[in-house]
Amino acid sequence: MRINLNYKFYVIPNYHMKLTRREFVKLSGLVTVGTLVSYKARSISSFAEDMLQPYLNPMEERFIPSVCLQCPAGCGILVRVVNGKAVKIEGNPLSPLNRGGVCPKAHIGLHILYDPDRIKGPMIRNERKSNNWKSISWKEAIRIVAERLSELRKNGEPHKFVWMDGRVRGNMGDFISRFMKAYGSPNKIGHSNTCSDTVEIAHYLVQGHKHYLGYDFARTNYILVFGGGLIEAWRPTTRLLRIYGHIRRERANRVKIVVVDPRLTTSATKADEWLPIKPGTDGALALALANVIINEGLYDKDYVNAHVYGFNEYREIVQEYTPEWASKITGIPSDTIVRVAREFATTKPAIAAGQRGAMMWSNGAYNYMAIHTLNALVGSIGVPGGIIVQKGPPFKEWPEIEKDTIAEEGLKNVRIDLAGTEEYPFAKNNQTGVTDALLTGKPYMPKIVMTYYNNALFSHPEIERVYKAFEKVEFAISTSPFMSEFEENVADIILPEDTYLERWHDDKVYPSLGYPYAGMRQPVVEKVHDTQNAGDVLLMLAKELGELGHTSVARSMPWNSYVDVLKYRWSGIFESKRGRVGPIPVSSFSTFGEFWNALLKYGYWADPPYKFYDWEHEFKTETGKFEIYSLKIKHKLEELAEEKSKKEGISIEEAKEKLLEKWNIKARGDKVFLPHWEEPLIAGDEKEYPFILNSYKLMTHAEGRGANSPWMLEHISPYFMDIKYESWVEINPEDATRLGINNHDEVIIENPKGYKIKTIAILFEGARPGVVNMPFELGHKAYGRWARGIGANPNEVIIDEWNGKYLRERFSASVNYFATRVKIYRGDSIG
Ligand code: SF4
Repeated sequence: MRINLNYKFYVIPNYHMKLTRREFVKLSGLVTVGTLVSYKARSISSFAEDMLQPYLNPMEERFIPSVCLQCPAGCGILVRVVNGKAVKIEGNPLSPLNRGGVCPKAHIGLHILYDPDRIKGPMIRNERKSNNWKSISWKEAIRIVAERLSELRKNGEPHKFVWMDGRVRGNMGDFISRFMKAYGSPNKIGHSNTCSDTVEIAHYLVQGHKHYLGYDFARTNYILVFGGGLIEAWRPTTRLLRIYGHIRRERANRVKIVVVDPRLTTSATKADEWLPIKPGTDGALALALANVIINEGLYDKDYVNAHVYGFNEYREIVQEYTPEWASKITGIPSDTIVRVAREFATTKPAIAAGQRGAMMWSNGAYNYMAIHTLNALVGSIGVPGGIIVQKGPPFKEWPEIEKDTIAEEGLKNVRIDLAGTEEYPFAKNNQTGVTDALLTGKPYMPKIVMTYYNNALFSHPEIERVYKAFEKVEFAISTSPFMSEFEENVADIILPEDTYLERWHDDKVYPSLGYPYAGMRQPVVEKVHDTQNAGDVLLMLAKELGELGHTSVARSMPWNSYVDVLKYRWSGIFESKRGRVGPIPVSSFSTFGEFWNALLKYGYWADPPYKFYDWEHEFKTETGKFEIYSLKIKHKLEELAEEKSKKEGISIEEAKEKLLEKWNIKARGDKVFLPHWEEPLIAGDEKEYPFILNSYKLMTHAEGRGANSPWMLEHISPYFMDIKYESWVEINPEDATRLGINNHDEVIIENPKGYKIKTIAILFEGARPGVVNMPFELGHKAYGRWARGIGANPNEVIIDEWNGKYLRERFSASVNYFATRVKIYRGDSIG
């Protein structure tokens, strides 16, 4: 790895510049003498010139810092640009986040940038699903969209404009929210309920932080992972791979890793122990571990006394959750549960961490509260080697948003996804709720939908239902650079975005380092097509709306370009004088210009180190402690019950009962506020549909865009090397033999609603009997040439709504990607 702080190299280091005319003639002469005999017909100087041509016109090679966007981790990268073409992506060696490393996904930024199937400029069509697209100018496109938005506002319906997004990194999320608020819609709806929201909500319920937490993996001694691909699909993969090497090989004491997962994942193969748990029962295991830790007196008494609220109530509750009880539910032997509990509590510091496999169930928040409580019991939160709460950069405060009466009135409407209402009381987003609203008209019908990094027609469960819903949208705007499922079937107009290597776009670190860190994407090449940064599109729309009379919207977005927005926000970091840009202390810059130039040179700012034992920072709760007894749930239930009793004229107790029933919570009394066991909702009858379909993420495809990269498709599976450009379903060999299914047979997977997909069977000992595993990423019916028509998408058979109930998590609205029973049989045609 070359390290050059100027990030500028030449393939042939400026050789020709040093060659004087006299030297050139001399060299020509030498070359001539050696070749005169065989090349006598040729002019001496022309031959020499040919020989020297590559040196006379050297290519310019630059390494330009930016930030990867193949997942939300935000690793620093250097893009090698030769004569204006991006040719390679490497890790930025100075970035403390990834220290020069990148995971396989980083490289495909080049595929996205130069993909021949990119949308080349703004387009419009008159008829849905027709391929009759017409290219238009940006001026026309902005005018058309602004007029539609203006009309909606003038009709007093700004709340019927719904923004659906995915990867909003850095300041982009706040910026979009700002536009939506000034416009008058409460409906900026992120994708997070299709991600791992329950983890964040569970953190909030017990620790007061509604976001992911960081883990000091490098200094821990024991890692207990529930339902997450620690080294293949966790974020940042790059950092975790490096830390894995450190804690397993480099350190004197080797960290013990135990993976709890129904599938033998890559992380499980690299762990000391794999506990193949029954899907959806991770909470039962965590409760039994707590039972052993508490009853054997292995918990950290000083820590619990000082920093835990509700310990005595929890001690009482866990008595029923014995290892024997948990063994029947989870399938993990009781003596294993006892041993793991003892190891976890006595090998300090220890970390219990989990991800979507354990949480994206109807009982997910209670599951994760139980898992995270293990950390509190052994005193691991806020200490070296334990759990840390990521800090953010000191960006400058946003200016006030100006709202006219239309905006004020629009914002009074309930969110269309019902996030934060009694339906999903702690949810941040319920993007799948947009489908519900379109199908039921409740709470109201969306009229205009605009998407950014979003493709509900591929990523949401029960896709047929989603297709039916989005047909009803009156006007759909997409910012996608690709003609994916949403664009092909729903979009009326496309305002294609730059790829991340062509635009300005910052990034705040994904929870990992603990201390604040932020990176800056700058355009590394000229735009390949006639595309725009979506930030600039919003500014253009705001201006156009201003011209159409919505002046408060325009005044709320007072910047000329999105890079100006970034400069505005980053001036807060400059003014704070905190941290360093690369190696340079911010306090040494005398002007913002100097600070900004350094930022573009090094690509990131950071303010280490993390301050441990800062309890006020760690516990943002009413008691200032870790609340095993969640006052957040208690108060929310009281607040909603009071509203409901007034609205429905019933007693508060009756209202509470109705709410608990709505949330499908069987427990009563204090148990409701404590981690406890609730059966997960699962669609389908076990006799007829004997398998649970477990969809999982691969390292190559962890975040969705690898499906359109030949490099990723060549290396799709870490285990089954003969599989390329294809998806598959893993089935335990005993199950397969019973069903007469052989390795590589074509099989049909059918769910209880009759939806079917076809794929190939792989007999795999790492599949738990009764569970079939299928990677999520392939099965596109649109998108680029590499993705279209390859493999099958498990989301087509994953059920979202069952017997009139949604299978989503009761508090967070997280989609349940694992709670569908299926049958599987040989067949080469869906029929
Ligand atoms: S971990 Fe994420 S951000 Fe880092 S290199 Fe891999 S894909 Fe890019």
